[in-house]
Amino acid sequence: MEDMDGKGKVPIDRGAWSPSSRRSLGHYDEHATEYEGIRCRCYGCGLSFVCSAEEQRDVYEVQKRHVSWLPKLCPLCSAKLADLRARDGVMQARWNREKESASQDAAFVREWQEVIGAMSTLGVDKSMAIHLKRLNPGAVTEPNGAAPDLP
Ligand SMILES: [Zn+2]
Repeated sequence: MEDMDGKGKVPIDRGAWSPSSRRSLGHYDEHATEYEGIRCRCYGCGLSFVCSAEEQRDVYEVQKRHVSWLPKLCPLCSAKLADLRARDGVMQARWNREKESASQDAAFVREWQEVIGAMSTLGVDKSMAIHLKRLNPGAVTEPNGAAPDLP
């Protein structure tokens, strides 16, 4: 990954922003001509990290996200969340395919609860957790302070 110190600057091309972004300024005033690294706090681990100029250009100009958007998770927690999402996807697929046997499989339910619990500590709200808790009460302690999964 380049520019981890966030000191590099990248020119701003406002024409490449989404229409709603073009109506606002995001993190920059109208005189700003370059992105700069922005320091953020990770929602997952609480550590400070930098959203680099290069990443901002990609997010705002290529992915067309709104210019007020900033990452909620540091790179490490983002990778962790991607892994959890993949495992959750596999388990959700099994659930959809064979709900009856899956709901009887205590090990499966427990593992899925753990995955969902870990996801919720990274800010992903999974209503499935409530349902699983009914099937297998007490397997996992309630995750605290789950925040909505913002785009
Ligand atoms: Zn983190």
